[in-house]
Amino acid sequence: MRGLLESVIENNRGFAMDGKVASYIPLLSKADPNHLGICVTTLDGKEYTAGDSSVKFTMQSISKVISLMVAILDNGTKNVFSRVGMEPTGDGFNSIVNLETKNYNKPFNPMINAGAIVTSSLIEGSSAEEKIDKILSFTRKITGNDSININEEIYLSEKETGDRNRALAYFMKGNKSLRGDVEEVLEVYFKQCSIDVCCSDISRIGAMLANDGVLPWSGERVISREVSRIVKTIMVTCGMYDESGEFAVHIGIPSKSGVGGGIMASVPKRMGIGVYGPSLDEKGNSIAGIKMLQELSRELDLSIF
Ligand code: GLU
Repeated sequence: MRGLLESVIENNRGFAMDGKVASYIPLLSKADPNHLGICVTTLDGKEYTAGDSSVKFTMQSISKVISLMVAILDNGTKNVFSRVGMEPTGDGFNSIVNLETKNYNKPFNPMINAGAIVTSSLIEGSSAEEKIDKILSFTRKITGNDSININEEIYLSEKETGDRNRALAYFMKGNKSLRGDVEEVLEVYFKQCSIDVCCSDISRIGAMLANDGVLPWSGERVISREVSRIVKTIMVTCGMYDESGEFAVHIGIPSKSGVGGGIMASVPKRMGIGVYGPSLDEKGNSIAGIKMLQELSRELDLSIF
């Protein structure tokens, strides 16, 4: 496996040149576009890495999977999906158009910004701090990494330039699809996006989901089989922004990407995969990361379809 991962890194290195590092959050633009890392966590708890697998990056939209799980643990599936839908949009991750023209009272799904802001608002706690602590401790548990923390610099950069997310949140507050204090909800959302991880952290999250909600390294169940099934399904239909359809055809693995350059992938009953490459395609997905997953999927026959 290690040899395979090493050749996957080498074969796909060149693709980074075809993309661009995210710059709409100024501090993200500091990432090195040549970094490329991969980690595979198998369900017997073995881990294989290659490339720049220990480089840290912020989770960004990958955190939407975590806040969805925490919101479901707090409120139950039925309550969460009465406030956010399950349908892909075909629009960009930060699109505002559907909030007014369609589905007036409910963002389409929890993987677009509008939906993720609503799921974060559903996490129980008496302050933003309590809510983010809950997200952090759940993240530490499902990665088996107690040192996971928020990258304060990215958080501040994100907060300073997050006007589009502010617009989404205030619009939703105005039409009553978002309740509570908007600035508090946004603090939770910006902070969850700014959680620092490396490839093995996200690979372990993928492995837990692949193992139907049970941590492969300890046998502890953290979410029900049913919740794990729902989360993986939403990752297939909505996890790769408006590139989810093409990704399903070519790769066929439930995955969630983030503009930090990470992709968390979960191959049911087989493995979790974490890839990192901060150079992004036009949709906001790691350009070389997708190519690496495509090669791995082909080599190991990982498509679920
Ligand atoms: N923090 C980013 C935002 O809300 C996350 C976007 C992403 O990774 O897609 O704009």
